[in-house]
Amino acid sequence: MNKSTPQTGWSNKAGTAARACRCQTWKQHWINFADQPWPRQCSVQPCTKGPTVGAHVFHADVRGEQIVPMCASCNMLSGKFELKSEVCLVSANQAETCAA
Ligand SMILES: [Zn+2]
Ligand SMILES: [Zn+2]
Repeated sequence: MNKSTPQTGWSNKAGTAARACRCQTWKQHWINFADQPWPRQCSVQPCTKGPTVGAHVFHADVRGEQIVPMCASCNMLSGKFELKSEVCLVSANQAETCAA
């Protein structure tokens, strides 16, 4: 994650399950555009579960929705949470990624 990117204050974007892009899944979307392999741990601090989904997250100070690897239970968090500093954010905006 970029040094200027905030780690705290992230939220899950609800109602994104039905969305799709040409990568088939949002996990695959993250894999296609992250410059690193799928991580062993969930992106949410301090969760140590294995991530299974590419989750839509957003932050008041960050432009656009982002995809991060998450476990199924963190993907259902309704409040704000913290992301680990090593997390790679991938834009969920298809015009900037797979539809570009
Ligand atoms: Zn995609
Ligand atoms: Zn988790």
